[in-house]
Amino acid sequence: MTNLVRMRAGQCCVSDKAIEPELDWSGYENAGLGDAYADIPKSGGDFAKAVAVCINSMVCLRPIEKGVMCPSFRVHRDAAYSPGGRSRLLKRMLNGEITAEEQAELDRAMEACVSCKGCKRECDTNLDLATIRTEYFAQRLKTQAPRLRQRLFARLPQLLHYPLVMKAGVALFNAFPQLARQLGLNTEHPLPMPQRLPRLRPLDNRPEAPEVLLWLDSFTYHFSPAAADAALKVLEAAGFRVHLLKEHCGGRSAYSQGLLRDAKKQAQALINELEPHLKAGRTVIGLEPSTLLMLRDEVLTLGLGERALDVAASALLFEEFIAREISAGRLKLALQARQDAKPILVHGHCHQKAVGAMKSVRKVLKLIPELEFEFIEASCCGGGGSFSFEAENAADSRAMAELALMPRLAESPESELLANGFSCREQVARLGGPDGIHLAELLARHLA
Ligand code: SF4
Ligand code: SF4
Repeated sequence: MTNLVRMRAGQCCVSDKAIEPELDWSGYENAGLGDAYADIPKSGGDFAKAVAVCINSMVCLRPIEKGVMCPSFRVHRDAAYSPGGRSRLLKRMLNGEITAEEQAELDRAMEACVSCKGCKRECDTNLDLATIRTEYFAQRLKTQAPRLRQRLFARLPQLLHYPLVMKAGVALFNAFPQLARQLGLNTEHPLPMPQRLPRLRPLDNRPEAPEVLLWLDSFTYHFSPAAADAALKVLEAAGFRVHLLKEHCGGRSAYSQGLLRDAKKQAQALINELEPHLKAGRTVIGLEPSTLLMLRDEVLTLGLGERALDVAASALLFEEFIAREISAGRLKLALQARQDAKPILVHGHCHQKAVGAMKSVRKVLKLIPELEFEFIEASCCGGGGSFSFEAENAADSRAMAELALMPRLAESPESELLANGFSCREQVARLGGPDGIHLAELLARHLA
């Protein structure tokens, strides 16, 4: 039986248990089979095959200035913090060869992965370190109780159902940094405060109009109400009958923490809510890249069956939906130039870049007459969900933003930032940059 190294409060100990994956890795069932050089570790089943897709080409160690891969390697300049370096140590762990020192290094390197999915898109063999990281955390939780901070992050969607309690909690942590420090939070900047809940009233007097579902996940609903309101206006202006699904979460934050029971429960509840809309043939439109795109990716690793596949097939980002309608020649959206329009600098969320959604953003921006825009060539902003709020990742998070994004914004103070990720907008604003807007807000502003 292969050894699995266990970590307890910074110490290593070796158990004699083979690793039993917590996620569904069956998509990798045939990966590397028949390849004498695949170097598949002895334990870990299909998870081991997912780790072994790294062929050690070392492309991820090259100094790439554009694209996404790999922000944590770029700020550390240490091979252990590259996708390939992480994979090398994971293989040693799964083969039971890892030393206590290497295990501690791997542990730190996995925590320092911002889950940007840059490797999944840009690595030669599409190594999916972000998902591997979740499996790693889930394995660690078999021998370690979750930290209070992990539980709080994982249950944020439920906590947001009690906005007053949530606001009081945020105010408390922001007023008493020593309390936040105790919890392992980054005290360099305040936690974001939930905003006033939007009053969204979709028009219901258009029975003949094509129908869509606008899914406002908990984070969009509580932290980006302006984007939610704008998306509703734009979709209605384009002639759609919009149904709303508010506050349900797909399990993104629990998944990132490796708390898979919570993630499954949340994803399952969301699928149940989405089902009648799918039966009615409605496309599911989301505004927040990391939560919407989870439906097409991570949710499929939770073992939720065929219904999850149906949801994945119907889920589109707002920009993907508008771009699809343009391509199909169906979009009827009257937009006009504005005298006061500022030049737009576009920062893509890493998950948008990972699925190629920036092409759709470009297509939609071209709809706006006379709009000047430029895409910023930058890697991850370092915001990445809870990453920037974790004390141990605070310095990396800032360094990632300072690589290219913040300097480019500082060069053009007259420009406005367009960023569809809530974490990206928050990160930029916290670091002294401009307040960003969502693409839906920009379109709503230009409605004729
Ligand atoms: S992670 Fe991908 S790019 Fe890096 S060494 Fe492995 S195969 Fe090459
Ligand atoms: S997910 Fe991003 S940060 Fe993590 S290893 Fe891949 S490229 Fe690096």
